[in-house]
This record gives sequence, C-alpha cells and structure tokens, in this order.
Amino acid sequence: MLRVALPNKGRLADATRELFADAGLEVRGRGERALTASLGGEFEALFVRAQDVTEFVADGVADAGVTGWDLVAESERPVDLLLDLEFGHCRLVVAARDESGIRAITDLPVDAAAPHRVATSFPRITRRFFAEAGRAVDVVPVSGAAEVAPHLGIADIVVDLTSTGSTLRVNGLREVATILESTARLITAPRRDPDGQRPAGPLDELVAALASVLCARGQRYLMANVPRAALDRVKQIVPGLNGPTVIDILNGGSIVAVHAVVPAVSVYRTIAALKALQATGILVTRIERLMP
Ligand code: AMP
Repeated sequence: MLRVALPNKGRLADATRELFADAGLEVRGRGERALTASLGGEFEALFVRAQDVTEFVADGVADAGVTGWDLVAESERPVDLLLDLEFGHCRLVVAARDESGIRAITDLPVDAAAPHRVATSFPRITRRFFAEAGRAVDVVPVSGAAEVAPHLGIADIVVDLTSTGSTLRVNGLREVATILESTARLITAPRRDPDGQRPAGPLDELVAALASVLCARGQRYLMANVPRAALDRVKQIVPGLNGPTVIDILNGGSIVAVHAVVPAVSVYRTIAALKALQATGILVTRIERLMP
C-alpha cells in the first residue's frame, strides 16, 4: 500500500480531491470522519490537516503528501518536491498598518530598543526572513487570522498569506514585501540510492498520473474542417504536439479535417484564425490526460 497524506478540510481539500479523481484516484468509501480511504489499486489516502501533512511525510507515516508550499517551508523538515499541483496559489507577505508609515523593509530599524512586533502563524519563516534582512523584530506567534492582530494592539506588522490582497486592505494593512509564493505541492521523504538518485517505484506512477492531468488541463483538443489549399497556413496556426493530424474527408478532396492539441489560453485566437481561413465544423473538447 502506498499512503498519501491529503488535506482533510480547508482551502486545499476540494481541489486535491478533484485532481486525484481526474487522475483516476477517486476517494472510495470514506465515512464522514474516516481517517483513511482507498484511492483504488495500491493507493490509500490518509486525511490530516494541511499543517500536519509535511510531518507525516517526513516521519514516514505517509509515503507522499499534498500540502501548501508555505506549510512545507514553515515545517523546516527536509522533504523532496515531486510535483507543483498548480492550485492553491497564494503569497506569504509582510504587511504593515497603513498609518505606520512603513513602506519597505528598509524602513524598519536595524537595531531598536523596542523592536516592531510581527504577528504571524509562520514564525520560523518570519524569523528567518527578518534575520536575513538584518532587521530586529519581535515575532508574536498567532494560530491564525494574523490580520486582526494590529486591531488588538498585538502588533503593527503581520506576516500572512494572501491571494488577492483584499483581506489585508480591508484590515487597513499595506503589503510591504513578498516572502514566498506558494501553490499546493506533492512531496515525499528524501530517499536516495548510492548514486544520489531517487529509486524508481510506485510513487512514479502517482506522479505520472497527476502530471498527465495537470498537463491536459492547460490544453484543448481542436478539430476543424479546412480547405486543403489552406493547409500550409493552418499548420502555422495549429502546430499541435508533432504537427496537426490531417485526415481525408470523403468529399472529393477539397476539404480535409485537422486535429490538434492547442493551448487552452489561446484557443479563442486559434478559432478566429481558422475561421479566417474558411474553416468549418470547428470543435473544441477538453482532454482528460496528456502525456506529451
Ligand atoms: P487551510 O488552513 O487548511 O484552509 O489551508 C490553508 C492553505 O491554503 C495555506 O497554507 C495555503 O497553502 C493555501 N492558500 C491558498 N490561498 C490562500 C489564502 N488566500 N489564504 C490562506 N491560505 C491560502
């Protein structure tokens, strides 16, 4: 059995479950509070708090885990990064009270009799950051909602996660610096064979399955009928993975069908360009998995 620690609730839980389901590793038969559930085959999910995933992986309780990069960094446990899962985007930022006049880290005193207090649920990263910046601060660990600390007179600087910055602004805080950018990651405990390589194993299967879904999410499968005479120009518009597939249609030969994998972000532009070449019957579909 290969055990994968997954967030049991919170911001990363749903997207993690969805990604695993898309990769064919659907959570099967989990009760309301069940700690584990089968993901099919040799894979089993272990549901824990996102904050605890790194510990479980580093201690070998789970063979792999999914959690935010911010939490991995804060744990300071050595783990290997297997895959960036491309959801759970956020930034860990330093923010100061608007009225504090602090606009940059360099506005903080290098040495002060009464150092500024910084409220955060990321005390290790915060201490490291300010030490490297050479600024003396007093770190006040809080267990969450650091943005309210200034209102309570606990601190006038916070180090907190944000994605849009709106919660910080609503609380009268101004971003001063970004400490790290985070997304959800698949991690495992460091394991090396004598020549320094990660030994091949069933985890590779998991990585390949998840990577194929992530790759497919950014692409679309496009089909169109185009005049054979326009094929050279069509090839420039839809290069595909190895060039588009061109299929004969039983119509006397003047029209051919073109199939190609195209980037999802620019598919609307591709369609417009194909239309300009008199393409008809344009069809765009999602791709479940893609292994280029
Ligand atoms: P949870 O506390 O279980 O909801 O999970 C929080 C995790 O979600 C964080 O550690 C981040 O990795 C991620 N995350 C993504 N966007 C945000 C955000 N705007 N605020 C807080 N956490 C976020």
